[in-house]
Amino acid sequence: MRYTKSLLADARRIEIESAEMPDETAEDAIRLRLAMASICGTDMHYFRHFANAGFQLDHPVCLGHEACAYVENANGHPFANGALVAINPVIECGTCERCATGDINMCARKRFPGSATTKPHIDGFFRQYFDFPARCCRVVDQTVRPDHLTFAEPLACAMHSVNVAGITAGQKVLVTGCGPMGLLATLAATARGAEVEVTDLKPDCIAAAEALGATCGYVIGQSGPPSNGYDTVIEASGSPHAFNQALDAARKQGTIGILSLIQPTAVPINLHLNALKEIRSVGSILFTREFDEAVVLIESGTVEFDAITARRFAISETQAACELVAEGHAVGKVLIQPE
Ligand SMILES: [Zn+2]
Ligand SMILES: [Zn+2]
Repeated sequence: MRYTKSLLADARRIEIESAEMPDETAEDAIRLRLAMASICGTDMHYFRHFANAGFQLDHPVCLGHEACAYVENANGHPFANGALVAINPVIECGTCERCATGDINMCARKRFPGSATTKPHIDGFFRQYFDFPARCCRVVDQTVRPDHLTFAEPLACAMHSVNVAGITAGQKVLVTGCGPMGLLATLAATARGAEVEVTDLKPDCIAAAEALGATCGYVIGQSGPPSNGYDTVIEASGSPHAFNQALDAARKQGTIGILSLIQPTAVPINLHLNALKEIRSVGSILFTREFDEAVVLIESGTVEFDAITARRFAISETQAACELVAEGHAVGKVLIQPE
């Protein structure tokens, strides 16, 4: 079976190839046909640098870890052919201490598609067909829209940061950065009952956050959030300088949650504020149980994802899709759909 696949051949160079699916699907896997995928900031680091967070790709790889798909061949697993499934891209080992406690994001032996952290690399989802472990796939109702369901993975990441930062109803929260992750963090914190304010360089990104429930936005360079004003700050901009801003904006004994994947850089940090204000800083990576929670929230149909969807491109247009995100002109997510 031949299919269309986008391949990151080198930095800023995506090639479209006609690939051949293997005749056999691995015993633990099912064969899937892409319904919808979306571009993540992680994909963009690989697109720009052929590396992310210090991890260099060894060879060309198909990007994409945010997707939903239709079951093409259940391969003996209990899925109906044609069923729409959400895909949890974390292939945890399932046997280590971390997996036993449910912390699959901490599993040292987990595998992840389209990533240099997994060796040998596994191709991601910016392609027409792929096989993936059946245990990572979750059937949803056919009424769920694929362009909503592809948000399950990034929404789960945002919900995880809200959980590890301990955001509760009534808290005053600042989200720094209104890219897709900041927007989803705004959504997740608002859904939790927090009052959310945001910052960004671009007014149209702030407007998107306000459409999701943010009550106030600060355009960096024009105005700034108040010092000591927030119970929790979620850093979603990826700018290391935003951490200093967060130390200023958090109240005494407040919390900073790091959702963005800040690249390895050396930046002076105002540690005195960390000490004087007894600020708790907590990182978050991927998600644990939040994937199921995100799918349930999407199934509820209550989230307006159209407001945070920038544009759609076909698989064969993956280069143009990545360029659009790289230029910084997209407000919200850019989606990749079948031809
Ligand atoms: Zn992602
Ligand atoms: Zn494990």
